Amino acid sequence: MAVLERIKHHDLEGLRTGHFNLMVNTSFVLYRLGDTLIDAGPRNQWRHIRRFIDERAVRQLLLTHFHEDHSGSAAQIAQYARVTPRASEETGRILRHGFPIQLYRRLMWRAADKVITRPFQPDMLINGHDPVIPIATPGHTPDLNCFLLPQRGWLFSGDMYISSRLKLLAREESLTDLISSLETLLSHDFDTLLCPHRGVVSDGKQALRRKHQNLLELVGQVQHMHQSGLPVPQITQALLGPEPMMSFITGFHFSKRHLINACLQM
Ligand SMILES: [Zn+2]
Repeated sequence: MAVLERIKHHDLEGLRTGHFNLMVNTSFVLYRLGDTLIDAGPRNQWRHIRRFIDERAVRQLLLTHFHEDHSGSAAQIAQYARVTPRASEETGRILRHGFPIQLYRRLMWRAADKVITRPFQPDMLINGHDPVIPIATPGHTPDLNCFLLPQRGWLFSGDMYISSRLKLLAREESLTDLISSLETLLSHDFDTLLCPHRGVVSDGKQALRRKHQNLLELVGQVQHMHQSGLPVPQITQALLGPEPMMSFITGFHFSKRHLINACLQM
């Protein structure tokens, strides 16, 4: 276990932590803006997270989605800081009952404990004066919400960004929803993107726009190659290259071939 980095951007503080520092999505940045934590961080990093939250009183914990790297320490934070996390109703339903995860996710993050949440409110504030607006952005998961801070032009992007060139997709992700959620985000005003894996992306809207364009291009190329008779493995190899270690580690649950298949299903 390790603290990999401390992040500072104006009054925003971040703690990058994680068991494995293999790819951008194998470590996690827990963000704190004054009295508010954005996501809880993974369960197996709790001892580092506890030290981080000891630095400043936590009055609010907002969750983007149920995934265990984002929600894993929510039960611990709720008890330790005496806050009830806020999440969408769908996220709340999943976290209340718990959810199964594959072995690689248990090794990477450990499973999240069950936790009770409260739904988002219409007029949520950070530090008592900074409005924060949840934006539903299904695709990566059905329950994903990003948090827009309109006065700052900041977007806490959950797992909507990570990279401007998507190369792998998990089996349960919906590419159709992901593309339309990117369009939803692009219709809002912001410039800085706070990604829990990539970190602070200062030209964030441009980066998201590139991701959207790259995905549309990929869908077009995949469909064109498929129409000319090429099978999925060859299309995958030609457009995305060989499967990385992560695909093998996850038993192809998270892989390039899923992304190509998803392009064909659109
Ligand atoms: Zn996720």
